This record gives sequence, C-alpha cells and structure tokens, in this order.
Amino acid sequence: MGLARTEEAYYHSPMVLTYRYRLKEPRAAMKELARQARAVNFVWNFCGNTQEQAQRWSRKWPTGFDLINLTHGGSRELQLHSDTVQAVCKQFAASRDTHRWRPRWRVSQGPKRSLGWIPFQASRAIRLEGDAVVFLKRRYRLWKSREVDLAAVKCGSFAQDARSRWYLNLQVEVGERHDCGSGEVGIDLGLKTLAAFSTGEKIENPHHLARYAEKLARAQRAGRKERARALHARVANCRKDFLHRVCLRLVRENRCIIVGNVNSSGLARTNQAKSVLDAGWSQFRSFLRYKAIRHGATYIEADERFTTQVCSGCGAVSGPKGNADRGVRDWVCGECGVTHDRDVNSAINILVSGRNAVLRQTEIPVVSRRGRC
Ligand SMILES: [Zn+2]
Repeated sequence: MGLARTEEAYYHSPMVLTYRYRLKEPRAAMKELARQARAVNFVWNFCGNTQEQAQRWSRKWPTGFDLINLTHGGSRELQLHSDTVQAVCKQFAASRDTHRWRPRWRVSQGPKRSLGWIPFQASRAIRLEGDAVVFLKRRYRLWKSREVDLAAVKCGSFAQDARSRWYLNLQVEVGERHDCGSGEVGIDLGLKTLAAFSTGEKIENPHHLARYAEKLARAQRAGRKERARALHARVANCRKDFLHRVCLRLVRENRCIIVGNVNSSGLARTNQAKSVLDAGWSQFRSFLRYKAIRHGATYIEADERFTTQVCSGCGAVSGPKGNADRGVRDWVCGECGVTHDRDVNSAINILVSGRNAVLRQTEIPVVSRRGRC
C-alpha cells in the first residue's frame, strides 16, 4: 500500500479526466524541460507586461488572440512549441478574466520560483511511442501506468510538483462504461470508522497520517524540509490509493450509491480537525462521484440530519442524540427492541432517504445521468 501512485485521475466535469504520468528522470531531459519552463515564464511575463501597458494607458485589455498575435514568431526564438506559446497566451487571458487583474508574475529562479509548467493545446503537439512521449523532437520516458488514446486527448501539460518531479498531464475525454453492479448502498461517513455501509460492512479509517506522524515530527524538528515534504506526499498518496480502491469496489457492486452530506468544514474547526482532514471525506465523495458517473451508476448525496436518531426498523426517534451521545456506538430501540449499530443504522437511513429523494424529485441532490434509481 505504501506505493506512490504514478498516475491518477482527477474529476473535472462528468467526462473529462486528467491522466497524470510521472516522467522518468534522465538529467538531460529534465534540463531541457527546465529550460522550456523558463521560456514559458518569459512568455507569461511578456503577456503581463502587455497587460500592464494596457491598464496604464487605459487601453482595451488584450484578448487571448491579441496576445497570440503579439507573440507570433516568438516560439522559434524561444525554442518552444508554437502550441505552447498559444496555450500560455490563452491561459493568461483566462486567468486574468477570472480575477479581473493581471495574474502574478512567473518567477524562474530563487526561493519563490514558480513550479515548472509547459502547456500545450492539442494532442498534435505530442506523440506517444511505447512508454515514452515525444515532444519537440525529444523523447521523455514515462511510468506508463495506463493506456491512453491520443485521439481523445484534448490538451495537456508538462508540470512540476512541489518536489520538483515532472509529470505529463493529459486531459482526456472518456466514454462511459456500463459495468456498475446491481446493488444499492447507503454510506455513513464517520470519524472512528471511515465509512459504514447499509449492508452492515464497515471500513476502518486507515489513519495514514498517524502512521507517519512520528517520522514527520522528527523531520520537522531537524529542519529537514525536503524530507517532511516527501512524507506528506507519501501520506497523501496512501490515502488516495486507499480511497480509489474502496470507491472502485463500491461502484463495481452497486448501481446506486447514496452518501450522507456530512459537512467536514463544520467539524474541522473543533479538536477533531486533524482526524477529519485525515479521513478525507470530501476526497472520498469526489472519487465516488466521478467513478459512479464513469461506470454508469447513480450517485446521490442525501440529507444526513436525524439519521443517527431514527430507528431504521420502525422509524421511531429513539436513538442517541447530539454531541452528548457521540460516544454511543450501539443502542436498542425503545419501540421495537432491535439492537442497532449506530453507524450502520445511520447508513440504512441514508439509503432510504436517498431513495425518497429520487422518488419525490424535490430536493434533487442527484448527479445522475440516467434516472436509474
Ligand atoms: Zn425501532
């Protein structure tokens, strides 16, 4: 489990995913990417200057196309792909328009150095050869963890992470598969157990952070920033890997997945903060959501209020209430006498309330592409 994932898919809109491949590290190739990243910064800052000029002389702000015209021919001089120069111009205009101001300068050197970034707009800029990518007549070897169809690639970039490793990111349009299971499941997210399912199963919180806490503290005391960063990255990788596995299994087994809308930001302010953050609920939900859509299942977030208090057998409000009873794990319903596990009972209620939400179609928290539930 401790393995670092070299690839992962982030959720964007329903059907565009970002595949991420780590580059293997021959020094010369990395040097070339670093050079290109500096040239990209140069183009970016040129756009910034143009923007400042326009603002100073109260002229019309340059559009992405204006910037592309202004940088025309620059790619040869800077030894960049022309597609890269255009992508930088467009990205500059886009982020300026979001913030209504000149984006920050990109810095090539020193402690505030911007992380390397070399975008390209279309798959025509690259070629894949076995486990390598060819970009601007140069081969870069990848940890190719999954196949990709270049025709489906919309755009991409070479980018560096905080640990100075290079990655190839590809935005890929993926088709839906219809290989989800046939079950239904309600999921109660918790602190002690990461998740309880309406089937009675529980997933323990793996506490990845706790496992590395001691090493992390030691590294921080010794002022070894690089080491601390590496450990943090490892914790994040373990967590993601774990969540990917759980989510994939859930989607393989179910066609309808209903999750409580528990709000981690509310709890994160209390002393349980670290544990909440470690549990990574929001990450869990976002993985579950895109995997569900991808595999043709329905994903629903249901209102979680009262789900711990109501008996899933008879509907009486007889369960533990509020913060005072937070420690109560098992309870017996006073009305019908059934013994409940607190979290599983809650998960069953979530399942029911999710079904109802679909039936009523009033408060539609549904991210479904087909009403299959
Ligand atoms: Zn009852």
